[in-house]
Amino acid sequence: MTELSGWQAPDWAKNAIFYQIFPERFCNGDPGNDPQGTVPWESIPTRETFFGGDLAGITARLDYLQSLGITALYLTPFFAARTNHRYDTSDYLVIDPAAGTLEDFRALVAALKQRDMRLVLDAVFNHCGDGFFAFQDVQARGADSPYLDWFLIQSLPLDIQRPNYQTCGGAGFLPKLNTANPAVAEYLLRVAEHWLREGTDGWRLDVPWKIPMAFWQEFRRRALQVNPDAYLVAEEWRNATPWLTGDTVHGVMNYRLRDAILDFCARDHMDAEDFDIELGRLRQEHGPTAPYHLTLLGSHDTARIRTVCGGSTARVLIAAAFQMTYIGIPMIYYGDEIGMAGENDPLCRAGMVWDEAGQDRALWQAYRTLIALRKRSSALRDGAFEPLLAFNGVYAYRRFSADDMVVVVLNPREARDMVRIPAPWYYQWVDILTGQVFKTADNMLEFSPLPAQSAWVLVPRVGDEACHE
Ligand code: CA
Repeated sequence: MTELSGWQAPDWAKNAIFYQIFPERFCNGDPGNDPQGTVPWESIPTRETFFGGDLAGITARLDYLQSLGITALYLTPFFAARTNHRYDTSDYLVIDPAAGTLEDFRALVAALKQRDMRLVLDAVFNHCGDGFFAFQDVQARGADSPYLDWFLIQSLPLDIQRPNYQTCGGAGFLPKLNTANPAVAEYLLRVAEHWLREGTDGWRLDVPWKIPMAFWQEFRRRALQVNPDAYLVAEEWRNATPWLTGDTVHGVMNYRLRDAILDFCARDHMDAEDFDIELGRLRQEHGPTAPYHLTLLGSHDTARIRTVCGGSTARVLIAAAFQMTYIGIPMIYYGDEIGMAGENDPLCRAGMVWDEAGQDRALWQAYRTLIALRKRSSALRDGAFEPLLAFNGVYAYRRFSADDMVVVVLNPREARDMVRIPAPWYYQWVDILTGQVFKTADNMLEFSPLPAQSAWVLVPRVGDEACHE
């Protein structure tokens, strides 16, 4: 594709460390708002149960997030809805009573601002829930409802059990909104403006490919009018190209990169050569937009990284080391940093483990170390990328800027007796994860052996003089 010109995105996003929270499951800060029948926090999650997590809980845990190094939150929906995931919006302008109050929301926004942290919300605009006022009006008044054209209805009366109207995924409780109707579009655009005015910093777009691009172009225009620094990011599982035109979003949730990371780091489905080729293709497709996409290892819609890695913390660490050292904005799914496990929905939505005895503290410390490095390293945030070695299961690369360099060596597979990696730039390197010092010989970094399932993140040793640049 041709190089994009005029691509603009907020710098804060490019430099951010995102953390995704499923509000019902992160922390219960106010037992007083728990819905009836709330189950104990440690329960095995189901599609139906409520755990009591809320906005006050998130505010209460900002110290934790800040100590990890997080600078931005993406929250899945917390507007009024009937389910625990709240993708079935009843009211886009009201906080779900079980998530808290408008005061709780404002307290969270204020606490985030105090810490210079950002907040991105979930724009679920393709469909609403069956509790949405317009849908209920059509249910009640049929052909007399002024909201008839807000939906894509085949026949009346509406049949929720066997939907005779367009839905999301065939689910009767998720009626699709007719965003081609200017009245619907205007309503949703005002929702977007409203929450930006309330102090949020951006929107993540839910199933945005199901909505005409013209809507998202107008969405961008209106959103950036309210907050020129807002970050807009599309959910995208496949090719990101439709989103790279510069007039809709700033980035996508880079699930295709996730696929490659898991195939290489977790599943051994890709060797290093294939991994390198796929990374190159993605960089070429994304062009100058590459730094603005979210690099994620999992989400509320996938199995957790720990589970995809077959329970291996060593493999999680390899994937995390890549995530934190590659081009793109890292986003951690809540609990992945302490080794939580879980298959796809509903099991990936368990209550966050807060008892340190149940947390993998070594993994947490490694995440923290990697995040701290990313934040202080211009090479990782803005630098160039160069593969150094792609040999069977071993992948090595460097990131570098004018005055900074990081060399990364990943080996998700078996131990190798000896691996040599070209690193002629410095004499001595320190692995930030172990503190181990490596010296170059004949311009090469030598690992003999290179341990199985290991990740090395090497920075020039302080005081060491560059060989040459
Ligand atoms: Ca609660």
